[in-house]
Amino acid sequence: MSISNIRGDAHSAGPSLTTGKWLNKLERKRQTGPLFGTAHAHELGMSTRAVHAGTNDDPRTGAVGTPIYQTSTFVLNDDQYDSVEGGYARDRFIYTRYGNPSQWAVQEKLAALEGAESAIVFSSGMAAITATVLAMVDKGAHVVAASDLYGGTYNLFNQEFPTLGMSATLVDSYDLEAIEAAIQPNTQLLYFEVITNPVLKVVDIPRLADMAERHNIRLVVDSTFAPPPVMRPLEHGVDLVIHSASKYLNGHSDLIAGVTAGPRKLIDQIWPRLLNYGGSLDPHACFLLERGLKTLPIRMRAHEASATALAEFLESHPNVERVLYPMLPSHPDHALAKKLMDMGTGNVTFFVKGGDEAALRLLDHLKLPKQATSLGGVESLISLPFNSSQATMTSRQRAEIGIDPGCVRLSVGIEDADDLIADFGQALEHIAPMKEAKYA
Ligand SMILES: *Cc1c(COP(=O)(O)O)cnc(C)c1O
Repeated sequence: MSISNIRGDAHSAGPSLTTGKWLNKLERKRQTGPLFGTAHAHELGMSTRAVHAGTNDDPRTGAVGTPIYQTSTFVLNDDQYDSVEGGYARDRFIYTRYGNPSQWAVQEKLAALEGAESAIVFSSGMAAITATVLAMVDKGAHVVAASDLYGGTYNLFNQEFPTLGMSATLVDSYDLEAIEAAIQPNTQLLYFEVITNPVLKVVDIPRLADMAERHNIRLVVDSTFAPPPVMRPLEHGVDLVIHSASKYLNGHSDLIAGVTAGPRKLIDQIWPRLLNYGGSLDPHACFLLERGLKTLPIRMRAHEASATALAEFLESHPNVERVLYPMLPSHPDHALAKKLMDMGTGNVTFFVKGGDEAALRLLDHLKLPKQATSLGGVESLISLPFNSSQATMTSRQRAEIGIDPGCVRLSVGIEDADDLIADFGQALEHIAPMKEAKYA
């Protein structure tokens, strides 16, 4: 038996690992190895799952923490050779790009948190998105997606798709009629973000799931802005849920990672893409992510508490025009947010009076939040879409997706609400009194 057989795809004309008999053999039992059983995880609360699910109990040392299996490769025995020959190499340790106990531990924890059968981790959110989308479509496929997607995903559909002989129609995620009208005979996928950035639209996932089912196409969502304590999109009928784990899941602004969770059958189809495209997650990063995940539910409660208090303060401030926070009654999607979200997050978007000039002055006077893109870390991060995430758009294009002048994008960390309110209070004093600024 030669090890080269596990390269499957490279040797055959078509993607044999994607269509091979192994993938649909769902009765096969996965040998989980020396891992904590997660079979009953769905009966446990979120924090219990976050702490215990997937955690590797090392039988040799009794270590309470999952060891970091910092190895590129594994000694092959008969069982491993058989797994290669039998086509179930995903269930064995052979080479770290294919699988590693550190990856398994964090994958099982993530699957338990999402209420999923299986999960797979990647070296970035974009690696997860690319491998997942391309595993779900064939040549010539068409995708219907949101028009205000994350920049990297937008580029996948707009720049990469045409070179691969595929196409995408981007539609306002509020406009369900337009979404349905965009579905063509070759449409294979609906792709949406459950909460959009930066105006924090809450997307009607159950209705999209219903639409996908009626048209017999798949619905994949990016739930980076709504981690599992907030929303579990699989419960609302999506086929696969993706996260940039660089944000809330890890929560400490110190690594880049991604994950896709869903039914084992679909995750098994994504795995060969991970092997081919190569975006596997390093064991040390797995350890950091697993450690971060243990405090995810408790961090989310702190994010929500500080964000709610700060959003209410901002809403009452005379120098603030408007605040967008889905858990406040003033948010246009408040009713849907109450239905789909178990709690709020740390993301607050607001508009200061005096436009972008006033917003720049606000940032200059804030002491606690760091001026940086990204979100979901323990530290508050603040940025202005006009000169960062949406800098390449014209002011009219920005206005079309709700980014009016003075727009501030804030990811509230877990700092004490009183300290954040005091800091924003003093900084907001510096932007008044203002005459209306002129916009370019
Ligand atoms: C950050 C982000 C991504 C990309 O994730 P990386 O880990 O940076 O590759 C994708 N989608 C959303 C919504 C994000 O915020």
